[in-house]
Amino acid sequence: MVHDIANITTIPLLNIPNLIQIGYQLMDHIASDLTRNVNNVSNYVIITDTQLAPLYLSTLYKLIQSHLKLNQRLLTRILPCGEQSKSRNTKAQIEDFLLNQKCTRDTCLIALGGGVIGDLVGFVASTFMRGVPFVQIPTTLLAMVDSSIGGKTAIDTAHGKNLIGTFWQPKRIYMNLSFLETLPKREIANGMAEVIKTFAISNEPEFIKLENGKNQIESAILGFSDQSDATKLDADRSMLMSVVSACAAYKAYIVTEDEKEDGLRGLLNFGHSIGHAYEAHLSPEWLHGECVSLGLIHEAELSYYLGHCSSNVISRLKKCLQLYDLPIKFDEKSKHRLGLAQVMDTMKVDKKNKGDQKRIVLLKKVGSALDNKPTDVSDVAIEHVLSKY
Ligand code: NAD
Ligand code: MG
Repeated sequence: MVHDIANITTIPLLNIPNLIQIGYQLMDHIASDLTRNVNNVSNYVIITDTQLAPLYLSTLYKLIQSHLKLNQRLLTRILPCGEQSKSRNTKAQIEDFLLNQKCTRDTCLIALGGGVIGDLVGFVASTFMRGVPFVQIPTTLLAMVDSSIGGKTAIDTAHGKNLIGTFWQPKRIYMNLSFLETLPKREIANGMAEVIKTFAISNEPEFIKLENGKNQIESAILGFSDQSDATKLDADRSMLMSVVSACAAYKAYIVTEDEKEDGLRGLLNFGHSIGHAYEAHLSPEWLHGECVSLGLIHEAELSYYLGHCSSNVISRLKKCLQLYDLPIKFDEKSKHRLGLAQVMDTMKVDKKNKGDQKRIVLLKKVGSALDNKPTDVSDVAIEHVLSKY
């Protein structure tokens, strides 16, 4: 259920129409829609990071400011960029800032950033004054297609990532694809891993679009498809828009069906049972999406080994991941950091498991997951497949 209004694609989430809005050059639109729709507030607070602030903060600030009513304030807070900001400490600092500024329950937090800012600001919003409204303005591809949708908020502790958090839904999610122009290439690939995962479990036609549309997608992201050829630029942009919209719409559908991850939402973990275990050993040198890339291939291998899909599925997946600059094998140094026993041990800590029983999303074919839910898989089968790498 995707709708187009004046070049903005809107997607409902949790049965709220227009909650997700996707387009290009959306800054003006964001400022006016936000102040119109989340309007019963006396303070808007934009929270962003040191990398994004010089790029986008002053534009957004001026535009929102121009829509404020007399009694409304606009505040800003800039945090260091990177995962280390998803901490108890940073959460407390934001809370102290809001309290010092005498922010009340009618405060709207605006998360301008990637998944780090989105997860953290969402968590602050969910507990400040027992819960205040917030909006997501995701600026990375990963945040657009994944982390901004679904209401999972969190911070990290020394015991692991995302261990403390809440479910708290944003009032709006604005995906301004023009932000992707400044996103480093490696971060684009990081987000593409989730896009490829999504279509691998849900949508073969969209997967084929990825297989054939690399140049168009890349030009649209970089914003430089031959500027003199307006028709080509339009076509490239609609291609990227349709890919991001289809991906976001699928996540929105899953979240609407299973908001608190009691069942269907587990499907989104394709590639992540093994990928997370790799990440535990290879992070921070390897990004999440890079570990998921190997996780997707190895879980597809497992699906093939168990007789659920053809080997063609593995080769198409590999080719597609490689096309979007994702790794499809380990370098020697990383291989040494990944003992089979350690990976198996790390895989025990997976919320999909039932006790000792590992549960993994398997593929039936490109675009379709087996039984639409994670499947019980024996340790022997996993060890057999992983011992090859
Ligand atoms: P990130 O937020 O750290 O952003 C990556 C880097 O890119 C940062 O340095 C940031 O400053 C920079 N950046 C962001 N947008 C930019 C732009 N448009 N131009 C230039 N630079 C830009 O990383 P991420 O991959 O977006 O998010 C990762 C986080 O998301 C992790 O903490 C992960 O746990 C979380 N996550 C949450 C969910 C969820 O459901 N809540 C899902 C997946 C991931
Ligand atoms: Mg992921």
